[in-house]
Amino acid sequence: RAKDLGKNRVQMYDARERRSSPATLVAEQALRAAIETGQLRLRYQPVIDLFTGRTMGCEALVRWAHPELGVLSPRDFIDLAEDTGLIRPLGAWVLAEAIRQAGEWHADTSMPPHTSVSINLSAQQLVDGDLAERTAAMMKAMQLPADSLFVELTERALATDESVARAELNAFRELGVRVAVDDFGTGYSSLAQLRRFPVDVLKLDAAFVRGLGSNPADDAIVATVQGLADALALHTVAEGVETVQQLDALRELGCRLGQGYLFSEPLTPDAFAAFVKRGAVELVSSRPGPAELD
Ligand code: C2E
Ligand code: MG
Ligand code: MG
Ligand code: MG
Repeated sequence: RAKDLGKNRVQMYDARERRSSPATLVAEQALRAAIETGQLRLRYQPVIDLFTGRTMGCEALVRWAHPELGVLSPRDFIDLAEDTGLIRPLGAWVLAEAIRQAGEWHADTSMPPHTSVSINLSAQQLVDGDLAERTAAMMKAMQLPADSLFVELTERALATDESVARAELNAFRELGVRVAVDDFGTGYSSLAQLRRFPVDVLKLDAAFVRGLGSNPADDAIVATVQGLADALALHTVAEGVETVQQLDALRELGCRLGQGYLFSEPLTPDAFAAFVKRGAVELVSSRPGPAELD
């Protein structure tokens, strides 16, 4: 296929060369079989409004339900998927399944009508140039409004093939699907990328959230990113919120949305629906103040 002859394909073979030890080949075959035989699962981590406690939506996170090893985290297999090109069928499955699930929730009248689902994309999913188009078709089939979908790309992914990525992200936005930069601040050109890419949301990496309220450097970094987001009219989502101190600091800095173990781990679809239906989470504060009242 002509599209396989492009620059990215060559890079993929290089990566493959480096990793083609027998153990890697076995792992690759197992992952391929997992995708084909339905061993992948999605978990959904609630994204919380840090001022009201309401669940605004969720992030879809892939898991591999391995028959012998149990449930594997993406940290155990996403790199392998990226290096072998299996990220494309894997990503296609994630996209279809997340849209199917979002459509099911949208049709469920006992769910709040604007529960969004955010999907992680790999740069390799953008190279064909028809991802937004295929997404639109799937959303239409599920009668899912475009504003219930977010796509997340890391800075690294955006940097791989800029013009291709920009065209595809523009196509997503024309549909009404919003674009988030994942792990913001961990790449080399965070600021430059904000000027070049159509972006709606910055996801503050957990690495910067960790020290909030205790490490002045993290407070300063998050304050700066929040100031930038405010100036550019972008939303921020804090990742890895684990403590009440972090929650307090985020609210003080004006960060509206967050996800993390303080609220919930990633959940099965049924558990996420139940979580949403229980209503707003109670936001405790480590100090008294007006924020406690809403
Ligand atoms: P990410 O997109 O930055 O996702 C956030 C990760 O932080 C998730 O790890 C989540 O389970 C974890 N997390 C959530 N709350 C907390 C917390 O309070 N504390 C800490 N320490 N961690 C928390 P997970 O599910 O293992 O996913 C790891 C990464 O794998 C994701 O990072 C994402 O980059 C990638 N990934 C996951 N699903 C997909 C997918 O469907 N496609 C692609 N291309 N990548 C995916
Ligand atoms: Mg993400
Ligand atoms: Mg992230
Ligand atoms: Mg992260």
